[in-house]
Amino acid sequence: MPGSFTDEGIVLRRVDYAEADRILTVLTREHGKVGVIARGARRSGSRLAGRTDLFSRSRMQLAAGRGELLVLAQAEASAPPRRVGDPRRAACAAVMAELTDRVLEGHHPDPAVFDLVDRALAEVAGPDRDPRAALVRFARRMIARLGYAPQLHECASCGHRLAEQPAAFSAAGGGLLCPRCRPGDPAAVECPVRVIKVLRVASEGDAETWARLRLDPPTLAVLEMVIERELEHHLDRRLRSWEVLRALER
Ligand SMILES: [Zn+2]
Repeated sequence: MPGSFTDEGIVLRRVDYAEADRILTVLTREHGKVGVIARGARRSGSRLAGRTDLFSRSRMQLAAGRGELLVLAQAEASAPPRRVGDPRRAACAAVMAELTDRVLEGHHPDPAVFDLVDRALAEVAGPDRDPRAALVRFARRMIARLGYAPQLHECASCGHRLAEQPAAFSAAGGGLLCPRCRPGDPAAVECPVRVIKVLRVASEGDAETWARLRLDPPTLAVLEMVIERELEHHLDRRLRSWEVLRALER
């Protein structure tokens, strides 16, 4: 890595450090996920203060420091502020950030993932749609990126083509189960036909088709339950932010 470079960065995580500093986990477009120290960012009047907000995107000038952390030298906003003041929007954005942080290794650039995260965070902050719709599609894309795209057309256990009828989603089995195989996974989530169709669009369709779908709260609730089970199964520990979202919905 050169001594200093400029890149687009999104703040995924931040913790206060020392008197007035912040340590950030930043997803950059060309350099992947990096650890960054923003010195003096908590001082009033610091030029860096607004650039270290969670989920914000800016053009960052980053310099090699003495340790592992890069030093944030300068930053300029490069996207409109993401207003996630509403607790549900904030919780959905937090799940996206935590999932991204968990899935990506440091210093492995992937501009397609950067764009996916950037778009999802912008959607979550957009006022006209249920933020869970953006979260569902985002989580499906990240699960696919982990290499766990589920079987949604054939039974994940016996391989028979699924009839157009309700089926159960098995996280352990890797997809939908036909009625005959259903008893094999008592933890499988029951999915009505409507949910199965939406699940297929979320997994296989493009962003525009997804944006046109009308998603009612019961459909979103089942889709989320499916994702929650998959993440529990595929990641070694639960996402803390998901529990916050769950608590808000109760
Ligand atoms: Zn089967």
